[in-house]
Amino acid sequence: MNKKEDGTDRRDFLQSGLLGTAAAGLAITSTSHVTAQTVPDAAEPEVTNEVDVLVVGGGTAGHVAAIQAGRAGAKTLIVERNSQLGGTTTTGGVSFPGLFDAWGKQVIAGIGWELVKESVELDGGELPNFSRVPQRHWQNQVYTNQFLYAILAEEKCAQAGVEIAFYEFPQTVSKTDGGWQVDCVGFGTKRRVRCKQIIDCTGGAEVVGMLGFPRLREEERQPGSFLFMLGKEHQPGRDLNQRLHRLYVHGADSTNSRTATEANMTGRKSILARVRNEKKRLMHLQPETGFRESYRIQGETLITVNDYTSGRVFDDAISNAFYPVDLHTKTGVRPKPLKPGKVPTIPLSALIPKGSRNIIVAGRCVSSDRLANSGLRVQASCMGMGQAAGVAATLAAKAGSTPLEVPLAEIHSLLREHGQIIPGKA
Ligand SMILES: Cc1cc2nc3c(=O)[nH]c(=O)nc-3n(C[C@H](O)[C@H](O)[C@H](O)COP(=O)(O)OP(=O)(O)OC[C@H]3O[C@@H](n4cnc5c(N)ncnc54)[C@H](O)[C@@H]3O)c2cc1C
Repeated sequence: MNKKEDGTDRRDFLQSGLLGTAAAGLAITSTSHVTAQTVPDAAEPEVTNEVDVLVVGGGTAGHVAAIQAGRAGAKTLIVERNSQLGGTTTTGGVSFPGLFDAWGKQVIAGIGWELVKESVELDGGELPNFSRVPQRHWQNQVYTNQFLYAILAEEKCAQAGVEIAFYEFPQTVSKTDGGWQVDCVGFGTKRRVRCKQIIDCTGGAEVVGMLGFPRLREEERQPGSFLFMLGKEHQPGRDLNQRLHRLYVHGADSTNSRTATEANMTGRKSILARVRNEKKRLMHLQPETGFRESYRIQGETLITVNDYTSGRVFDDAISNAFYPVDLHTKTGVRPKPLKPGKVPTIPLSALIPKGSRNIIVAGRCVSSDRLANSGLRVQASCMGMGQAAGVAATLAAKAGSTPLEVPLAEIHSLLREHGQIIPGKA
């Protein structure tokens, strides 16, 4: 006998149980629990930070800069206006960073490589063999899982003692005796930051712009891209067959919230039209447009396309870079590979806004002409710049000087200690 006390039998019970679950929705297959720590003074809308280094923008260059500063002993805060670290690598979905190698050997390593390698290994993915020179440059890009990458970046920030402030951005920046006062806003939060050094990793050098230092911008910029997948499942971090569809959004402009809103809505509307026309399911869509180009700083040095393609080793080189000249236009892109053996370098002075003190940039806003920038903007190069900026800002904060006054030998030595390859010595 399998009768229950209320007279129903076990089979009835199981059936009604299943129906009950169906009514609640079968889409959720499991529930687990975790408890967030109570944020001290969460009800208090105004907070203050005193730090050595403030990193603005936690994207491709920014999180590496912050981890480096934290590991080198600087009290570090990173302010990121979105909800996760990684920027274009994660939120933009360009989760195939390149290029860490050139001509059969690795030329960029350090913290960016550590993260990329660890995320691929954790994901059971495959790393390229850098001793092989590929037929096409993109074959040595590293396919990473964007979701894992963002979480690992957070973990490494926490381990380095870096404080993270998501959903916030600077509203005003003013000079103080010892550096800067940066007032940031987020929803329900006003944050006053006093710092010795700023690292601007916003992609378009937004803090540099707020301070009134000159920036460069083209009348017509490269298109942005929305990455998505129609009709076929997308497997993050897997091989070329799993690559995403790319929608060029011409005129995409990351200058401010209004222009970025326009780019996002234009892209999504076009993808909706494709879904309707092609009658395919939308299987993957990044939350925002990836922007290739906006502002670049006018730095103490400007890297020209000739410097870039000739593989000039600058006297104050702090990082290598490697990628073809890669300018996207209305008619697509025709990458111009570098000549065999050439490895471009990035000088410290191209990260310093002209005439500035106590501020350094890293990422695609590096001081460069447009064609040089089309190669310099790629992710391994941005990560290399981020690490160098983290070192230079930390040493400047400790010495009470400015990044350009830090002896180059000290920058190289600390970079080497943290696993980076120094130009000319790879
Ligand atoms: C569609 C596309 C395809 C690409 N393909 C490749 C490729 O195949 N291989 C490759 O290596 N590279 C590729 N790139 C280039 C590369 O991905 C980017 O140039 C690089 O990631 C830029 O890094 P970044 O750190 O300068 O900026 P981002 O990674 O964009 O980071 C900027 C961060 O700053 C935040 N931010 C901005 N303003 C503020 C503010 N005021 N306050 C707080 N936070 C702010 C943003 O939210 C973001 O997180 C591609 C780029 C695009 C868009």
